[in-house]
Amino acid sequence: MTAGERDVPVKRAQRTPLAPELVGTAMCVVCHERTMKLPGHNGGVCIECYAREANADVRIARASHSWVPANFVGCPCLACGSEDVDANGYLFWCANCRMVARVA
Ligand SMILES: [Zn+2]
Ligand SMILES: [Zn+2]
Repeated sequence: MTAGERDVPVKRAQRTPLAPELVGTAMCVVCHERTMKLPGHNGGVCIECYAREANADVRIARASHSWVPANFVGCPCLACGSEDVDANGYLFWCANCRMVARVA
């Protein structure tokens, strides 16, 4: 039994909140189409790109029998399907069903 690569920890789910002055102004670092709303792996990302990253994290964690929180972020809203969703750098919410998810 050797301690090796197999023990590399899955990246932490906790993220650093996005700077308020970037939210809704700077462009998403992934798609460059929408403005930053939430912290991604490599910088600020829009809601759609955040959802893609978070869902990938959940899949990777499941495959390696690790645990990460389920992803509640998505556009349209994963709970009710409304596209009336927004985020402020660390919270994601749906204006229609009033779901709020803290992501950083
Ligand atoms: Zn994006
Ligand atoms: Zn909703």
